[in-house]
Amino acid sequence: MRPVIIAANWKMNTTPADAGDLARTIASRTREPGVVRVICPPFVCLAAVRDALDDPGLAAPDGGRAAVGAQDVHHEAAGAYTGWTSAAMLAGLATWTIVGHSERRRDAGETDGVINGKVRRAQEARLHVILCVGERLAEREAGQAERVVRDQVRGCLDRVGAPAPADRDVDWGAVPWLTIAYEPVWAIGTGRNARGADAAAMAGVIRETLGELGFADRGEAIAVLYGGSVTSANIGEFLAEPSIDGALVGGASLKPDEMAGIVARAGVTAAARLEAGSRPGEGTRRDAAPTS
Ligand code: PEP
Repeated sequence: MRPVIIAANWKMNTTPADAGDLARTIASRTREPGVVRVICPPFVCLAAVRDALDDPGLAAPDGGRAAVGAQDVHHEAAGAYTGWTSAAMLAGLATWTIVGHSERRRDAGETDGVINGKVRRAQEARLHVILCVGERLAEREAGQAERVVRDQVRGCLDRVGAPAPADRDVDWGAVPWLTIAYEPVWAIGTGRNARGADAAAMAGVIRETLGELGFADRGEAIAVLYGGSVTSANIGEFLAEPSIDGALVGGASLKPDEMAGIVARAGVTAAARLEAGSRPGEGTRRDAAPTS
């Protein structure tokens, strides 16, 4: 049974003075059992968000705590890289990180090779990784979307290997160290979201590629999220697809009302999965068990 994950990417918004309050408000309004919540503020707000979320009263009834994530890490472990942040520097601040976001591919010129280094450094630092992949509009219109995403998954995860052992478990229990966010570039921040069926088809392509790369269970244990103009009004279309395990949310993640609606819908999916997994013959298969 794969986890249901809602990750908030605050991008370059909030300050250390207001990030803690926003995180607390969101966490208090998203206490849905079974939903993994991750808040990714700017680097300078990580400590404020960590401190704000360190409150047992913000846990879900099943004990699940909202986790803190970074928006990026450097692809080298240390060195002469002025202004950058290494994965190891996040110890004590964050347990997750986003890598390969299309805005960084676009603005910082990140290639699949560089992103591969980031994935490795994050894995070494025992961070949960949300790897972003997705095609541009021209690539989709040219019928190249699947090839582009396949190539990105191959390049970013080349020689990265299978999910790590159980000692990567944090807080809420067994969640694989790797999560993939399918984020079509043309849908990010545009108000124009993909169709649920298209996202599901791409999740199939992603898991097929993970299988080719040698991931355990042919990638079946790896959560695939959709990202791109997700709101409380359209999240249902994505979570109705069994192959989609949640969302990476940008603009709407700064709005507590939106986050409350999105996570409430995710809670419905989490409860349904739990129910299906507890039926005899389901969820007990080796290939259906969560891996870490
Ligand atoms: C994102 O930043 O990953 C994202 C999907 O943004 P938005 O939800 O604003 O499209």
